[in-house]
Amino acid sequence: MAFISSGYNPDKPMENRLTDMGPRHFEEFYPEVIKNNKGKWLYHEILKPGVLVHVAESGDEVYTVRVGGARLMSVTHIREICDIADKHCSGHLRFTTRNNIEFMVDSKDKVAPLIKDLESRKFDGGSFKFPIGGTGAGISNIVHTQGWIHCHTPATDASGTVKATMDKVFSDFQNMRMPAHLRISMACCLNMCGAVHCSDIAILGYHRKPPMVDHAYLDKMCEVPLAIAACPTAALKPKKVDLDGTTVNSVEVNKNRCMFCGNCYTMCPSLPLADKDGDGIVLMAGGKVSNRISSPKFSKVVVAFIPNEMPRWPTMTKKITDIIEAYAADARKYERLGEWAERIGWERFFEKTGLEFTHHLIDDFRDPAYYTWRQTTNFKF
Ligand code: SF4
Ligand code: SF4
Repeated sequence: MAFISSGYNPDKPMENRLTDMGPRHFEEFYPEVIKNNKGKWLYHEILKPGVLVHVAESGDEVYTVRVGGARLMSVTHIREICDIADKHCSGHLRFTTRNNIEFMVDSKDKVAPLIKDLESRKFDGGSFKFPIGGTGAGISNIVHTQGWIHCHTPATDASGTVKATMDKVFSDFQNMRMPAHLRISMACCLNMCGAVHCSDIAILGYHRKPPMVDHAYLDKMCEVPLAIAACPTAALKPKKVDLDGTTVNSVEVNKNRCMFCGNCYTMCPSLPLADKDGDGIVLMAGGKVSNRISSPKFSKVVVAFIPNEMPRWPTMTKKITDIIEAYAADARKYERLGEWAERIGWERFFEKTGLEFTHHLIDDFRDPAYYTWRQTTNFKF
């Protein structure tokens, strides 16, 4: 395509340069009923999965219809979202913190036509464009990351694993049969962009092989001390390497100390470690961020390794649904997955979910590992 200038002058890059304006103020985009009743809401109800009503002191009502979004979306799709908002919601809409989309209307008679319109829209492949749900004690959207779409450090894919999982748990997106919210999150490496460390169930990309060392380029590409300091287990040390007669500065990886975190590659492009057979998925469970009843919790590793099985990850989705079904059948009302596992004991969690307990699950990272072992005779056979 031929170049079309926006008016920016590359010869005078600082001329007419606008900066530090920040985001638009959110009040500019309020629907009328939200603007009028801001800070004066009395109560809310979930009318059915995906549909909420909030009632204000003035008696005003706002009905919210929540629909799933793939997060990664085309401008075409966003335009379609805008068309729906223009048609039903005076041009207003919002996105949630789990990347669902919410359409709001100010009277009950506008809800049914909106729902009918949303349910009628499908992609050519058959998937719902705007499935309604994600409220109450069900499974809402999966918070996830870049994967093979855009990042350079992933050990698995984000959009692919998420679509495969949401397809399997789709009825729970549209239902509220769980004991409590069940949050699933996904991160494609253990940088853990997002919420995997604090979710009921978490999908995490994991390597199993130490980095390769590109001695020829390492000293040219990397600040060696940064790579050394990036390693949580001190598996790297500086080393002089003989390369076809010339001595170059590089690093040596102590493979017995490396646990494949990939931090050194983040610092140094000459230490790549992605591997088709080595890489896969770890599952974690039992985290939460709310303070309801129990304090927030980290999620714990419950499955040490599942291979990457593109494009549908069947082993992974099977183990996820095993955990969900055991929890749904056994937990008490309001009990989050982590509260359930801690009440029944983790040994019972493994028994009820049918997951295999392996030595990989036993913490061995520094002094705090000790506190994760059992220093009591209280356990169940
Ligand atoms: S979790 Fe890791 S691989 Fe995924 S987007 Fe974040 S840094 Fe990249
Ligand atoms: S992958 Fe992680 S553990 Fe292994 S050498 Fe690099 S920083 Fe250290």
